[in-house]
Amino acid sequence: MQTLLRVTACAALLWCAASPAQAEWVRRITDGIMGTRITVELWSDDRATGERAIDAVLDEMRHIDETMSTYKPTSEVSLVNDKAADGPMHISKELFDLLVTARQYSEITDGAFDITYASVGYMYDFPKHVRPDDTQIAKALPAVNYRHVILDPVNQTVRFTQKGVRIDLGGIAKGYSVDRGIDVLKGRGVTRAFVGAGGDSRIIGDRFGKPWIVGVRDPMKGEGNVIARIPLVDAAISTSGDYERFFDEGGVRYHHIIDPHTGHSASKVRSATIIGPYATRTDGLSKTAFVLGPDKALEIYNKLDDIDAIIVKLDGTVVHSKGMSHAPPHPDAPAGAAPSPGAH
Ligand code: ADP
Ligand code: MG
Repeated sequence: MQTLLRVTACAALLWCAASPAQAEWVRRITDGIMGTRITVELWSDDRATGERAIDAVLDEMRHIDETMSTYKPTSEVSLVNDKAADGPMHISKELFDLLVTARQYSEITDGAFDITYASVGYMYDFPKHVRPDDTQIAKALPAVNYRHVILDPVNQTVRFTQKGVRIDLGGIAKGYSVDRGIDVLKGRGVTRAFVGAGGDSRIIGDRFGKPWIVGVRDPMKGEGNVIARIPLVDAAISTSGDYERFFDEGGVRYHHIIDPHTGHSASKVRSATIIGPYATRTDGLSKTAFVLGPDKALEIYNKLDDIDAIIVKLDGTVVHSKGMSHAPPHPDAPAGAAPSPGAH
């Protein structure tokens, strides 16, 4: 009897050791990195491996936050803002490359995307309902111009042409961090995943024959209401909205997207959603419609073969780029696919 028990126990142990770990979807939502909500979901051979991969994505995002945040006085970007008007300043390759990318988006968008918006933008504090007055804006506005940022690729330096210039990568760093997160996952062999940081997300692979579904928030209604559900495979999506960080005063909405030409909030649309191959690109393009308005922005988007756009105009009507040959799927239409990882 004892022998039989021992044999059975051994067999059970062996079975446990040999049983394959269970592949599954692993998902985590984290608040507090880059001041936003990070969502990572992936298909993993087993839970522990998946959790470790998510840890690595979040570590990468924390590193980007430490380097790029203007809320952190010791970040590399804060040091650049302190010193780059005094002369050429050597910076990390990562920051240099992102500054080059930011300049490309300024050029593509006719200056609507401009990281030097911060020369005026730093005077806004939306949670505290603080905004600069017209005199302060007029004084600071000459410092807003991406051409004031001189990049030297040979020496890997940055220089500002004048005092008062400030940069802020808040309009591209989340998209960039999503792309870096996807790179980290790909490097670990992950082939199906969703990485989202606030309004910027990217997807690799599908959900076993079904697309991922990402909801686009209705800017005219409260959180949870969507204007469209977009099926996506191997794509990125970014939404900019005037409802993200704002305050209303005297019938005017002051919000976090700044028109580099005026220094005031850019209010020519309610929201813009860009779909493209990677999130640095969709993030870099999602502010344009606010500054240039729907017609000029669509002209720019329609010239870019890898981009689609959905814009909600001030009156609530929706227009889209010509690549979307039909209107985006209505939110009430049966999804027939995996649930949305969240509305943008
Ligand atoms: P989120 O920060 O949620 O991703 P957006 O992609 O719409 O939202 O980016 C808004 C941010 O972009 C602002 O908080 C600010 O940091 C930055 N920004 C504001 N105006 C401009 C501009 N004209 N060009 C580039 N970046 C901008
Ligand atoms: Mg963004």
